[in-house]
Amino acid sequence: MSSYVDNVIDALDRQILFNMPLRKALILFSTLLFAIIAVSSSFAYYFSMKKILTESLERELKQTLDMRQSLLRAELTREIQLLKIISEYPDIKDYFLNPDDEKAKKDAFAVFEQYKGYFHSQMTSWVNAKDSCYYVNGQFMEKYSPSDTNHAWFFKALGGKKPPTIEVNFDYLNRHTYDLYIDYPVYSEGKIIGVLSSRIALFEFINNLRLPKNILIFGKDGIVIGAADHKIAKEKKTLEELFGKRGKDIYKKALGMSKNSSEAFSIGKTQYVLNSMEHLDLFLIAKDKIDVSKIIEERASKVFIALLLLMLVVFIIFNKLISHMLTPINKNMMAYIKESLLDDLTKLPNRRFFNMRIEDEWNRAIRGKYSLCFLMLDLDKFKNYNDKYGHLEGDMLLRDVARIFSYCINRTSDFAARFGGEEFCIILPNTKLEGAKKIAENIRMSVERTGQTTISIGLVCENPILEDDMQEFMDSADRKLYEAKNTGRNKVCW
Ligand code: GH3
Ligand code: MG
Ligand code: MG
Repeated sequence: MSSYVDNVIDALDRQILFNMPLRKALILFSTLLFAIIAVSSSFAYYFSMKKILTESLERELKQTLDMRQSLLRAELTREIQLLKIISEYPDIKDYFLNPDDEKAKKDAFAVFEQYKGYFHSQMTSWVNAKDSCYYVNGQFMEKYSPSDTNHAWFFKALGGKKPPTIEVNFDYLNRHTYDLYIDYPVYSEGKIIGVLSSRIALFEFINNLRLPKNILIFGKDGIVIGAADHKIAKEKKTLEELFGKRGKDIYKKALGMSKNSSEAFSIGKTQYVLNSMEHLDLFLIAKDKIDVSKIIEERASKVFIALLLLMLVVFIIFNKLISHMLTPINKNMMAYIKESLLDDLTKLPNRRFFNMRIEDEWNRAIRGKYSLCFLMLDLDKFKNYNDKYGHLEGDMLLRDVARIFSYCINRTSDFAARFGGEEFCIILPNTKLEGAKKIAENIRMSVERTGQTTISIGLVCENPILEDDMQEFMDSADRKLYEAKNTGRNKVCW
């Protein structure tokens, strides 16, 4: 009997939370919560570390680039300043105005000679607008003509407004290398009367910058002119040749950049910083790779794992505490459920519990398309028994009858309840009429065998469908019970 009631209570306990006992549900819930927090904090940690590491790498790359760029810029500024000083010498202006005056020429050449040692290449060159003669270190080289493309820079400079112009050009006359030409105009009364020029041997200069492996310098044609490996620049490798599609992408980005700007981006796992020069069509690119997972593994994983373990310990303690606190609450709750759903006298489920259950079983039978049997039971002439032996004896008999029910029904899905007074009911889900008759007959005989009372039973069995009425189903059991009563009692009618 008690195991039957325990089963009923256990089923109730399971129904309250996630179809499982409260303590188990709580442990499962907090474990789930722990897992969610652990996973989400791992993600948050990974992504914030990745962001910090990428940003610091970006800063580092930018610094190395800026350092090289400022060396290049300093060198250019020095050359420009020197040219400016020379262009403002009265002797120089004199010579540019009168190129045929031997004295003026001599004085001017002396100035060039005096300054040439200060230039990076130890060379100065100039072209006079009057006679278009091109000199290098005082040596006449050739006469410039507007129709020669090699001389175009000069005629362009004559018409130019913003000095100086700086260009990378090929030295076709002497060294047959790429040089960086800095051209500075000589003015007289606001008019350009000639152009001074200095040059920096580009490869030499860039190689002196001692570029680290991850920095490249390239021109607007995408050809690398500076790299840690000098061979790359000598062989005029393009970015595309070096890095394939990535090189092409970088080159495209560079062409879209405005002068003297910087851009940071990443392709795949590699971080890039790209700088464009101020006066020149030159670009500096620095790149580096970071393996965030590896860094996290090496540097921070221990701290993080310790943190997770700490969280786990806190969760376990929290769990224990809560489940400890829940034990009396659970007990009280169960006591309350017992009180409100069980009959005090027989400890069978009461009418309220029955009402809940019959509806559940009715719907389940409709869904499962199986037969549902229902028994209405009423003790015979129980009033007489009470009158004869007293109410206390009557109560004892009611308890005995209830115990008989729990012996006679054996499936966990079977459900016996006290309907009220000396009336009981039994639900037998998924049971055929023949089986139900056997159970009913067994109960009837068992009650009879007590020798104290007998019982009448009304039995109905149905395969309910959605359109059927549950109340009608129960009423028909009641009618069968009355049939039993009216046809002699101590019998089962169906
Ligand atoms: P019938 O065979 O027609 O069912 O006759 P009956 O006397 O059993 O039916 P009736 O409805 O006339 O009387 C039911 C009696 O059951 C009335 C009451 O004395 C008794 N009874 C109802 N509840 C209890 C209870 O909790 N304890 C006791 N001792 N008796 C109860
Ligand atoms: Mg009755
Ligand atoms: Mg009765």
